[in-house]
Amino acid sequence: MIPLPEGPVPATADAVIVGGGINGLAIAYELARRGMKRLVVLERDYLGSGSTGRCGGGIRQQWTTAENIRLAQESVAAFEHLAGELGLQTFFRQGGYLMVTEDESHLDSLRKAVALQNSCQVPSRYLEPRECLDIVPQLDISRLKGATFCQKDGTAYPFSVVWGYAKAATRRGVRIFIRTRLLEVRHDGDRITGVLTDRGEISTPLLINCAGPWSRSLAAMVGVQLPNRQERHEIMVSESCKPFLDPMVISISDGIYFSQSMRGEIVGGIGDPDEPHWDRPAQFDTRSQLRFAVRFARALTAYWPPARKLRLMRQWAGMYDVTPDHRPILGGVPGLEGYQMACGYSGHGFMLAPMAASRLAKQITGGGPDAIIDSLSLARFSRGDIEADAFVVG
Ligand SMILES: Cc1cc2nc3c(=O)[nH]c(=O)nc-3n(C[C@H](O)[C@H](O)[C@H](O)COP(=O)(O)OP(=O)(O)OC[C@H]3O[C@@H](n4cnc5c(N)ncnc54)[C@H](O)[C@@H]3O)c2cc1C
Repeated sequence: MIPLPEGPVPATADAVIVGGGINGLAIAYELARRGMKRLVVLERDYLGSGSTGRCGGGIRQQWTTAENIRLAQESVAAFEHLAGELGLQTFFRQGGYLMVTEDESHLDSLRKAVALQNSCQVPSRYLEPRECLDIVPQLDISRLKGATFCQKDGTAYPFSVVWGYAKAATRRGVRIFIRTRLLEVRHDGDRITGVLTDRGEISTPLLINCAGPWSRSLAAMVGVQLPNRQERHEIMVSESCKPFLDPMVISISDGIYFSQSMRGEIVGGIGDPDEPHWDRPAQFDTRSQLRFAVRFARALTAYWPPARKLRLMRQWAGMYDVTPDHRPILGGVPGLEGYQMACGYSGHGFMLAPMAASRLAKQITGGGPDAIIDSLSLARFSRGDIEADAFVVG
């Protein structure tokens, strides 16, 4: 049981963190670990009710930009001991990530990405299609042109990680208010002074926006315009079958990803180029569609024929919070004191959160400048200093 407070919110706090997903809870925990007191997390629904509880739990280091590789690499190192640190089983499992393509034109980028990853000490390697059979013997390789593999990549169970962070944060005095919505932000010119919630008002000098797909509207409350757009992504889980799939398989040619959970279910999704983008939370549509189930089933059985015998158990949808370069936005905004954010994670906020949170918390508590946070600041878009990550899947 995680002891969550009931009743009104406190009148004052040293920081208010909006969002009870992995980012908000990890940042709250990291700030508390570094000695910050009187921390409040606001979650308008239940913990993990946003993107985090709807995600695939995939954790990979095979990226094409140095910042994403670094954050993912450090996060993998964190996931390796997170269960012990937080005091809750996270079901982290390093079955690897097999990244395949059916498109010849991707091969050069895959090789270059492996070279960059290896230069950062990520142990990924390039594979010819037939070598994929050593990793997934039943994979249909007839259309594959090439692949990369990293054994250190893996998966964790999103709700356990969320509950682990929440439990560890509350042990360090963080007060997490669920079913508590931030309604307004108080600011005095260029300085945050407080927030109004549906359980009362809190005076605070520091607001941290970890509202996932809602971060854009929260930022707009303080006059910060984010370039993020929100996309619906669907995902499904099958009935359980005997364990025969170790890694997460993802295709950069058609955007499918699938893995097998510890309970034997196949969990996966596929991006849909025809999904509309939403600009306002009121428009978010997380209903399930038959179109997704059909597209996913076709793609899955083409890559992995044993899936033909499986029955779909359930499907659901969540939102990606997507920036123009598919990399997160971290840190503050010049000219607005007391405002910080960790958002815009696209389809990889679960895997990057532990170290993004740790680095951001270190900076907030006076740890000095952080090169990764600086390069992922909102200002990069106005500077035109953007480098898109090429391998975005889902
Ligand atoms: C189908 C799908 C599959 C995915 N698969 C992966 C994957 O395999 N690996 C990976 O790394 N990432 C994956 N992602 C992306 C990942 O889920 C997100 O990047 C990550 O969970 C973002 O976490 P967060 O804490 O920033 O946001 P969220 O989890 O969305 O949390 C934000 C929270 O803020 C709360 N909130 C919003 N507004 C307010 C308010 N006004 N007051 C109070 N609370 C508020 C919301 O209720 C929500 O709980 C996937 C996403 C989807 C949708």
